[in-house]
This record gives sequence, structure tokens and C-alpha cells, in this order.
Amino acid sequence: MAGLAEPLMLGATWFTEIQGGSDLGANTTTAVRGEGGKWLLNGYKYFASGAGLADIALATARPKGARSGAKGLALFAVPRLRGDGSLNFYLRRLKEKSGTVAVPTGEVEFIDTEAYLLGEAEKGIYYTLEDLMVSRLANAAGAVGVSRKAYLEAYMYTLHRRAFGKRVIDHPLARRDLLEMEILNLESLAITHKAIDLFEKASGDRPPYTRQYHYARLMTHIAKNLTAENAARVTMLAMELFGGVGFLSEYMVERWHREALITPIWEGTSNIQALDMLEAIVGKNAHEPLLEDMGQLAREAYDHEVAGSAYEFMKRRLSGLAGMSPAEAEFNAKYLLEDLGHAASVILLENMASTLDEEVYHRAAELVYRYVLARKPLENPGTRVLEEIISLQGSLPL
Ligand SMILES: Cc1cc2nc3c(=O)[nH]c(=O)nc-3n(C[C@H](O)[C@H](O)[C@H](O)COP(=O)(O)OP(=O)(O)OC[C@H]3O[C@@H](n4cnc5c(N)ncnc54)[C@H](O)[C@@H]3O)c2cc1C
Repeated sequence: MAGLAEPLMLGATWFTEIQGGSDLGANTTTAVRGEGGKWLLNGYKYFASGAGLADIALATARPKGARSGAKGLALFAVPRLRGDGSLNFYLRRLKEKSGTVAVPTGEVEFIDTEAYLLGEAEKGIYYTLEDLMVSRLANAAGAVGVSRKAYLEAYMYTLHRRAFGKRVIDHPLARRDLLEMEILNLESLAITHKAIDLFEKASGDRPPYTRQYHYARLMTHIAKNLTAENAARVTMLAMELFGGVGFLSEYMVERWHREALITPIWEGTSNIQALDMLEAIVGKNAHEPLLEDMGQLAREAYDHEVAGSAYEFMKRRLSGLAGMSPAEAEFNAKYLLEDLGHAASVILLENMASTLDEEVYHRAAELVYRYVLARKPLENPGTRVLEEIISLQGSLPL
């Protein structure tokens, strides 16, 4: 651990090339052994966030003679400065982006750039995926943050803005929007905590990985996808609740929506999360520990009926995979990924209700189950319950 006297170093991860973002195996950056344990990299990283700020970046490159595809990639640490103190790479241009403007994203060219091999060259893709697991969890936490911020601001706005002689919040449809935002945020929060907890338990794992690691990876895909999709929806509803001013850049809400829209794209798009989920299930049987864990949590839930129904739903959705051809499974994978996220959230919220002894989480779980999973029309749960759920986030410590 860095001592107090040591300055903190800012890191970055530069994997994507113009021809290889989702398809990392298409990366063409090369690596050759240099002198004194250093390697020399040559290539072009097309999306390099933190470029110009980061002291050190992780970068994928293919050592000379290594196999093609993702398994031939090694992982390197690339310092900003060379051993002689000069700049180690060229920042060709900064991107103009519709969001995340506080983070510079540039195109970086490596020309005999000095780098240090991390671990064993042949295991580079595994280290890269481990790193992506961390950044996907960070993405989930970021999505929860921007989504909750948008919700709270929209909630406050509806308390003051008046239309048709009463406050916006007093109109049933506006309350329904707030309720939807709240339950989506709650499920995002629950699934993110769960995924981080599983990752912490498995983070010491190295290849060949244990089933606990594969389970943590599966939950990371589920959480990355659910939180990103929920953040996009919640921030859009927040904009709508602000009305016309929500579309103006002088109010912050349009910015939160733009910030939310990057979360399903970087760190692997939602389609890529869905494909990785399939691989974890079909190739690594990661659904088995998922079902074991969720079954146990459902048994300890506040409301066994709601948690049990979500568990049965999850089991049904997973067993549906068995009858599908690989192409059909792929075609349906994103919907399965979403459904697993909603079902797990119901069970986790029911579990929170029981461990924290707070009935309100059970109410939220019930709504997710009925409204999102069973696709039933959302009944008005009554003013008191609604108020309780809608104002929940103000009282949650995060
Ligand atoms: C602001 C910003 C900052 C970024 N910062 C970084 C960074 O610091 N480091 C870094 O390494 N990368 C970074 N990226 C890159 C980002 O991770 C990639 O853009 C993202 O992973 C998608 O890759 P791509 O752009 O090559 O899309 P493509 O792979 O071209 O995908 C295009 C579309 O095709 C879909 N698709 C691709 N393959 C499949 C498939 N097999 N099945 C179904 N659909 C498929 C994708 O889901 C997507 O919808 C950044 C991107 C942005 C926008």
C-alpha cells in the first residue's frame, strides 16, 4: 500500500482499437522484448480515457509470434514517461463526446513505447477480463449514482412545480413515474452490492478459476447490464418530469441522462455482457452457484412467496436455454440477462427486508416482481406505501 509520502498514481485501461473494441481479439498492437526487462509497444489505441492525466495505463498488445485472437494478447503496464523522463506515447487527438466530458478520452499512438509485462504473457486475456470485472462493477456503482441523483432532483422538482392547480407529485401519473424510478434504483442498488460482495470473495482467484469466481463474473454481467439499462430509463424519466426545462442545458438533468447513456456502452456493451453471460452459463455452469445462492436467499426472505416466485421465474428462464440452438440462445440472450437481473433483485430486496427488518423493501420487491417480471399492470399500491417507497432514497445511507 502506498505510504502517505508517496503520491497517488492515476491509472487507465487502454484496450480498444479502431477495429477491435468488443472484439478484443482483433487488436493489432504489437509487443517486442526490449532491454532491461522492458518491452516496446507499437500500435494505436482508439479510445484511451484518462490520456494525458494517467500516470500509468494497462494496455493489451500481442507479443511477436503469439497466436492470433484474444488468447494471444498479453497485458502490459505503460507509464506516461519513459525511463529517460520523456513522454512515452503520442496523444493524437482528444475526442469530442456527448458525455463524460470531465474525463479526457483520446487516441493514443504507441511508437516503441516502453512497457512492462504483467504476469505471464499467455494469461494476458485473463488478466484483462479480471480488470474489466472491476471496471464493470465501478460502472454499475456509477450508474446507480447518476440514476439516484436524477431521481432525487426530479422528486424535489415535482414537490414544487405546479400544474392544473396542484403539485406535479400529486398527479397519479407523475407518482407512477417516481415509483418506477425508485424501484429501478432500488434493484440497481441491491444487485450492485451483491455483485461487489461476490467479487470481493473471489478476487484472489487466478486461472483456472473456481466456480465462485465464475459466479462472481456472471453476477458482474448481470449487474453491469441492469444498472446501465435502469440508469438510462430513470434519467430519461427525470428529464421528462422536469418538462421543457429538462431539455435545456442550463438544468443539469439532461447532463445526467447523457452521462447515463455511456454506461451500457463502455466496459463492454450490453450485447457483449449478454454474450459473456451465455459463456459463463454454457461454458462454466455459473448458473448453478447462482441458483444455489438465490434459492438459499429466497428461503431466508421476508416474503417467501414473492422471493420464491422470482426464484422459480429465474429457474424457468434458465432452463429455457436447454431447448435452444446456439443461435437462438444468442438472439434471446439480452432478455435473459435482463430477466435474471430483475429476478435476482426481487430476491435480494426481499432479503434486505428480512435482514434489515424493513417492510418497505418487501413492498419494492413485490412491485418489481409484479410490474417488471410478471408484466402485470402496476396497481396503485396506496398513498401511504407509495410515499414510503418514493421517499426511501432520502433515508438510505450511500
Ligand atoms: C467515451 C468513451 C470512452 C472510452 N474509453 C475507453 C478506454 O479508456 N479504454 C478502452 O479500452 N476503451 C474505451 N472505450 C471504448 C469502449 O469500451 C468501446 O467503444 C465499446 O466496448 C464498444 O466497442 P466498439 O466501439 O468497438 O463497438 P463495436 O464492437 O464496433 O460494436 C458496435 C455494435 O455492435 C455490437 N456487437 C459487436 N459484436 C457483437 C456480437 N458478437 N453480438 C452482438 N452484437 C455485437 C455492439 O454491442 C455494438 O452495439 C471508450 C468508449 C467511449 C465512447
